[in-house]
Amino acid sequence: MSCAATTAIAAGSSPDAGSSEAPHAAHLAWVNPARCHPSCAFDPGARLQRLDDRGAPNPRGKLRVDADAAAALTKLLAAAREAGHKMRINSAFRSYREQARVFRTMKERGRAARPGHSEHQLGTAIDLKLPTTAAIDWLGEHAFEYGFALSYPPGKQRVTGYRPEPWHIRFVGDEIAAELHRRGSTLEELFRARPELGESGTCQDCPAAISRKVCGKITETGACEGPVLTWCYDGALAAVDCSVSEQPCVAATAGAPAECGPPQPKGDAAVTRE
Ligand SMILES: [Zn+2]
Repeated sequence: MSCAATTAIAAGSSPDAGSSEAPHAAHLAWVNPARCHPSCAFDPGARLQRLDDRGAPNPRGKLRVDADAAAALTKLLAAAREAGHKMRINSAFRSYREQARVFRTMKERGRAARPGHSEHQLGTAIDLKLPTTAAIDWLGEHAFEYGFALSYPPGKQRVTGYRPEPWHIRFVGDEIAAELHRRGSTLEELFRARPELGESGTCQDCPAAISRKVCGKITETGACEGPVLTWCYDGALAAVDCSVSEQPCVAATAGAPAECGPPQPKGDAAVTRE
């Protein structure tokens, strides 16, 4: 495993422990709608390995994954198969330019991260094809055993800035993955509690203007446009289509910001997709 992958949650309780003392204190990229990669157009280059969609190394495979993540992913997919779940890799590394294309062509609002903000640019984030609800559950329960974290779990859209994506996993190394699983928290929440673990750029070096922060008239409180929740996330516009989780977008009230709400009693209120 590389230093980056094994950045430890320091054993001590001091929040400052580790960052200067640990010999392998490499940071993890902290990206979200407002934060970019430390170098916006970062490319892992030679660290990428080619895999086929079953996770087997294959020089002609279309999927590119960071070397450490690839080894762990191969094991994860083998274990899933053994447990009866035929998972495949849907998507892995995407370069800045590829992400820019995905963002421009994506019709569903909030589904794609802006270029420079996507975990896929690291080579350590993978989208899996999960054929059944049981496969989704299995992944949620076992991904951490292979060093992966679920970046966008349900109900955390206001924290992560993205809709729930049970298929999107990121390799963070065994220790951090176990810690997140134990606490039931996301990497975003860990970074907010322990900013020294993460590393972000300002987005000012991004090749495309769409990578930079803008909220326009949208406030932190946010608003609903049909089922789509939009809000200003730390100075950057975020959008989540609540209907993908079969939820309505509930407008802000005096005491609460706009949010994807509980399903409405009438079954026809929320549009279901996928
Ligand atoms: Zn993804």
